[in-house]
Amino acid sequence: MIYAGVDIGGTNIKIGLIDSERELIVADLSIKTRADRPHGEILEDIVSSLRKLCASADVDYHSVAGIGLGIPGIVDQHTGTVSYCANLGWRDIPVTHLVEVISGKHAEAANDANCAAWGEYKFGCCKGMRNVILITLGTGVGSGIILDGKLFGGIATAGGEAGHMIIVKDSLQCNCGLRGCWERYASATALVEQTKQAIEAHPYSVLADVAAKSGKVTARTAFAALEKGDEVAKQVVDNYIDYIVTGLINLGNIFHPNAFVIGGGVSNEGAPLIDPIEDKLNAGLIASAHNPRVRVLQAALGNKAGMMGAAALAMQNQMS
Ligand SMILES: [Zn+2]
Repeated sequence: MIYAGVDIGGTNIKIGLIDSERELIVADLSIKTRADRPHGEILEDIVSSLRKLCASADVDYHSVAGIGLGIPGIVDQHTGTVSYCANLGWRDIPVTHLVEVISGKHAEAANDANCAAWGEYKFGCCKGMRNVILITLGTGVGSGIILDGKLFGGIATAGGEAGHMIIVKDSLQCNCGLRGCWERYASATALVEQTKQAIEAHPYSVLADVAAKSGKVTARTAFAALEKGDEVAKQVVDNYIDYIVTGLINLGNIFHPNAFVIGGGVSNEGAPLIDPIEDKLNAGLIASAHNPRVRVLQAALGNKAGMMGAAALAMQNQMS
């Protein structure tokens, strides 16, 4: 069976056709979100793009069994309503109802990080594990928690937001209104901030040189300078990894999952990021001496995880 997966971002919307038996993407495309448009227009654009995708991939639109949508906000998975989405300016939008009316198909919606976690769990790097927590290191820190093979949501599936657990009391202000949230220290945005501070403090370092040559500071800058053996960059990366690990130890002591999956832009750094995280995490966990190591895995599906997970949610709810 073919299902449609849609990953709605603030800038782009990814739409894919996923074959549930072969567990692969048959075809996909990306359109501009243009978030200033009314929500109805965006949803109509998604469905008409889906029709075009079907035509170009030689898939009968009528054979698409359902549509799953990942949305970067607070989504009630049971009602399909987006109560709040800052990037799109949506409040109390009954997304699945609207998509069902426009498309004539069954629709499901969930938070985008939850979709990404579900995608990795169903098709990606943690297939077959029953307890997995996905963390995305991007503009913020997103998370999706899978416990005993089910996405954990809490009331109205608004839970599982690990990025806003407080790791430093009365500290940096977060967009959410709280202070000292994990994402203020462990996101890609935070790494850029930390790198800029280190450059200011050490203007003659290799780190400063790498930034000057590329003309800007990104989440890659510190890792690029680390590859050149720079001590200042090493301090930045070590410190950043410690912030990530602080959050993971908190989560690890509560949930003791089989694995943490690290996704988002920063996860592309691979082993220099992932390996020290796994070592420091296991050294810090209370139960680590008596239990198997908690694995730390790099997300396998890249920026397609959300789209694939959204489609998988539509599969599941259609089959049960
Ligand atoms: Zn916060």
